[in-house]
Amino acid sequence: MRLNLFWKFAFAFLALLISVLLAVDYFAERALRADYERAGFDKLTAVARLAQARPPQWPAASPSKPDDLSALQDWVKKMAASGVRITIIAADGRVLAESQSDPLSMENHSNRPEFLEAMAKGDGRSVRQSVTLNREFLYYAVRQNWHGESPVILRFALPSENVSEVLGSFRRRLWVSSFFILLVAGAVSLFMSRSFTGRVERLKEFSRRVAEGDFRPLPRDGSGDALEALGISLNRTASRLDRTIHTLTEERNLSSAILGSMVEGVAVVNGSERLVFANPGFAEILGLDVPPTSGSALVEVVRQTELLEAVRKVLGGEQLVQSEIVTGTLRQHYFAITVAAVSAGDTTGAVVVLHDITELRRLERVRRDFVANVSHELRTPLTAIQGFTETLLAGAIDDPQNRTRFLEIILEHSRRLARLTEDLLMLSKMDAERLELEIRRLSVSQLIESCLETAQHRAADKQLRISVKVPENLPDISGDRRRLAEVLQNLLDNAIQYTLPTGEITLSARTANEEVILTVSDTGIGIPKADQSRIFERFYRVDAARSREAGGTGLGLAIAKHLVEVHGGRLWVDSEVGQGSQFHFSVPLFDPDLSEAAIVSE
Ligand code: ADP
Repeated sequence: MRLNLFWKFAFAFLALLISVLLAVDYFAERALRADYERAGFDKLTAVARLAQARPPQWPAASPSKPDDLSALQDWVKKMAASGVRITIIAADGRVLAESQSDPLSMENHSNRPEFLEAMAKGDGRSVRQSVTLNREFLYYAVRQNWHGESPVILRFALPSENVSEVLGSFRRRLWVSSFFILLVAGAVSLFMSRSFTGRVERLKEFSRRVAEGDFRPLPRDGSGDALEALGISLNRTASRLDRTIHTLTEERNLSSAILGSMVEGVAVVNGSERLVFANPGFAEILGLDVPPTSGSALVEVVRQTELLEAVRKVLGGEQLVQSEIVTGTLRQHYFAITVAAVSAGDTTGAVVVLHDITELRRLERVRRDFVANVSHELRTPLTAIQGFTETLLAGAIDDPQNRTRFLEIILEHSRRLARLTEDLLMLSKMDAERLELEIRRLSVSQLIESCLETAQHRAADKQLRISVKVPENLPDISGDRRRLAEVLQNLLDNAIQYTLPTGEITLSARTANEEVILTVSDTGIGIPKADQSRIFERFYRVDAARSREAGGTGLGLAIAKHLVEVHGGRLWVDSEVGQGSQFHFSVPLFDPDLSEAAIVSE
């Protein structure tokens, strides 16, 4: 049976009370009895002294003669007025006189303990049941010498029933009052233990709540006792726990948010080559359909041997291993691997970080290609210049027929070289972001006007017609006049270049949202779809030979696109092979709210 706290307290209290009562009963009875007996014996001793001081008129004859005993009987009766029973016993145990019964009917008293003691020592006492009167008595006996004859014993007795009565009533009162005390104490303890167990239950409930993560504090009960102090300290512990858990949760959330949003792949591997952690980036980089779970073997998750080897090296004792992997087949991605040893507590392992270096590799390739392209572009005019100069020096200078032609070729190639270096210089300025723009309010028609004259000359040579379609109320734009003219010039040059004679070139402009869109359309050869996105790359040409022949550097559109973009616009193309091309570029409208000083920049 499982007793609740209240009943445990109640039983303990009852057991304690009963044990105390029994002990009180026992010791009180002993003390009372001893006290009573001492008082009784004191009285008996006093009476005995009195009796001995006024001894009976002893008959002259021997006490053995019964006739003479009446005098003794009288004395005994007289002395018994003190309330004490008196007996005179001869040395042989015969009762000579007795105050409460007939001495002749009484049996021999030689075996009574008080008699034996008195005979031996002079006085004796005992507490026992009277054989004659069948009651309990306190006996006190003294030896009285008998005028030269054998001594007699004077015995004084008091009934001890009084003590039993007193004890009985004491006991009754003790138990009755104890019963009431028990009732009152029981009620009080019931109330107290109820409230105590209630409070303990509340503490228990509170601990359970805290264990489940509910840290609301326990209200104070105002009792100011140890239980309340316990509650306060539990409250403090709970709030500290709450704060700690809160901080830890925040830290954990922050770390997982950081790791989760990182494009780099991060994974932790333990000493037995099993994954402890992997962020989404890791799964994505390695092309895993399902994110790897903690505990899965690395070899089952990762196929790249370079990565496995790097991890093994670090688990084998190396501090840091760096390597590289390539993923994907059609579109290859390059990742730098950094594997570092990590130890947390007793466990050691490795942290793997995968960093995407595809862009870096692409830029490296672009740079390599660029250098190769530049060298290639430079080589052709330089070789031509060198060749024709050598020919002239070798004697052709004296040949008036070819001399001029050779010199013209040299001039043409040196112009091309100059154009190339100019374009390269422009590109390098743009790359270094050192291109300075003078942003001003510009009228679109004026801008078109400034480019038209030169273009029309060239167009006329090729029997091309250039028409301009610009609405009259076109708002002004903000931009660098020279740079935007360069863009427009370049587009017009290309249109003229890649349009067959008798073709048509149209220059138009329109507003859209917060910008003006200028379009150069031609009815030329057009650009295949596959090349349309690439013509803005440096040195990219759809037909390299044709472009070179025409003196193009392959850099025009790359520069134009960049120039448009630094103005905050876009440059794009729509084209159909054999039908013609439309090159569009947008320029932001002039905003009077922006002061000129603010927009002059870059
Ligand atoms: P290029 O100096 O060769 O003209 P660009 O950068 O100006 O260099 O042009 C890149 C390539 O785009 C050209 O070589 C040409 O193949 C193509 N292209 C440019 N404009 C036109 C156009 N209007 N029609 C057809 N092809 C064009």
